[in-house]
This record gives sequence, structure tokens and C-alpha cells, in this order.
Amino acid sequence: MSKRLDSSILICPICKSSRLEINKNIICMDCNNKYEQHEGKYYFVKLEEGDIIDPLDKIKHFLKSFSVIYNFLIYLVSPVYTDRHLIKFINKHIEGKNIVALNLGSGSSNVSNNISNVDIFKYESVDLTCDISMLPLRDNSVDIILNVAVLEHVPNPEAVVNEINRVLKPNGLVYSFFPFMQGFHASPYDFSRRTFEGMKVLYKDFECIELRSSGGPTSGFLWAFQEWIAIVLSFGIKPLHSFIYILMMVITFPIKFLDIILIHHPMAKNLSSGFTYIGKKK
Ligand SMILES: [Zn+2]
Repeated sequence: MSKRLDSSILICPICKSSRLEINKNIICMDCNNKYEQHEGKYYFVKLEEGDIIDPLDKIKHFLKSFSVIYNFLIYLVSPVYTDRHLIKFINKHIEGKNIVALNLGSGSSNVSNNISNVDIFKYESVDLTCDISMLPLRDNSVDIILNVAVLEHVPNPEAVVNEINRVLKPNGLVYSFFPFMQGFHASPYDFSRRTFEGMKVLYKDFECIELRSSGGPTSGFLWAFQEWIAIVLSFGIKPLHSFIYILMMVITFPIKFLDIILIHHPMAKNLSSGFTYIGKKK
């Protein structure tokens, strides 16, 4: 069970009014827009599975229904080497603390029972569905916000970062992973990548606590290599491309563990799978 989100911090995402009547439905008393509430979970958008069109994303979405298996498969065969940096952050700043913490774009995962999960899809573990570039939350109401491999899937990541800055309390923390060297992956869309320097620009309004490579240069190379093999050997046949791509993941994933060492190389950021930024609201 996830921690229940305190409904007193909710606002209307359309008109920003805090005058919400929360019963079975949520009704904005200023603009009359209606949203849904069910057992302490709040649904400000409804996106159906029919909105997903990419075949690989369909497989991912199906697997996400089995979150434990999905997360293990991702951890094991995905081309991206994942270390314990996020788990250490959660243990240090979130576990056992009396705070409001959110995971934006959580998918079906529940990384801590002390974090409220926010996503555009209504997975079982999700506490709040909304468009993360229009958070239905009051200014200065949240202590910590995570967003891991999410911002590449929104058309305007700057708008999301501005929203994070708005809803965080002063000195509140953001933990963000943004990919750099990763192939296209729809979930349901994929729009952008960021360099090491690009991360500083994106979070320019925050005080930087840490900026590091996450998933090293081998992860960056491996994803491109798997995709390249799938393109070369599939002769333009889409289902064959998906099959070879998944087969290549299963065969070549152990190579990524070279990043246990290479992630510490001073030039790792030239080819890193992505970057993690930890910042404090000024
Ligand atoms: Zn409203």
C-alpha cells in the first residue's frame, strides 16, 4: 500500500483553484471541471490502453501490469546498468520521515511506501493520475520529488521542471534521471535527450547538490549496438525488428556490467546512458 496523499494539497489543474469538493467525484467549485476519486486515490486524467500504439511499448505496458517481474526484467536484461544510487537516496531522505514525497511517472512501480505515485496511467500502485506539466498540487506543498526516466516522454520537460519548482517547499529536493545515449523508446511517446551540461540548464533555478553519470558508457554503446543489429537484420519488417531487438537484449545484456568500473571514468559522461541530478529548491 502506498501512503495516502493528503487531499488538502490538491488544486484544480485547469484553473488552479483550491476550492475542490471531494466526494465520489472531485468537482472544482470555480470552473466546474469534474475529476474522480476512489479510496484515497485521485484521478485528474484518464488515459486508456488504446492510446498506446507502439508495439514494443504495448509489450512494456503489458509487462508493467506485473510490476515485480517487470522491474526485475528491466534490472536484468535492459541495456542500462543500474546502481543503488536511487535506493540510497530514498533510504537517506525519505524512508521513515514524516514528509510528502512524490514519484512523477512512477509507472507500476512502488519504490517506497512513503512515496505517493503519480502517473498518466491508472496502474494499481498509482495514487494520483495527472499531466505532470500541470500538477494538481498547491505551491510549496511537497518535500521531495523523484522523476526517473520520465522527462524524455513529455513534450515540454521545462514545463514539468517549473511545476516541480512551484510545488516543492523551499529547500525541497528533486531527484531526476534524464537519458542521454539511449535509443528511441515510446512510453507512450519519446521526445528528447539531455547532455551533462544540458541538465544544468534544465535545472538552472535549483541549487545543484549532485550531477552524475547514471548507466555508464557501456550502457550507452550497448543500447545503440542492439538497435543497430535489429535494424540491419530485420530488412524493414517491423515484427522481425522487435524480435531481434529483444533477442539481442537477452544475449548481450551481461556486457553492461563493465559499467560497474567504467561509470567512474572521467570521460564517462561523453557516452553515458543518462544523468542523475539532485537539486534543492532555492
Ligand atoms: Zn477549476
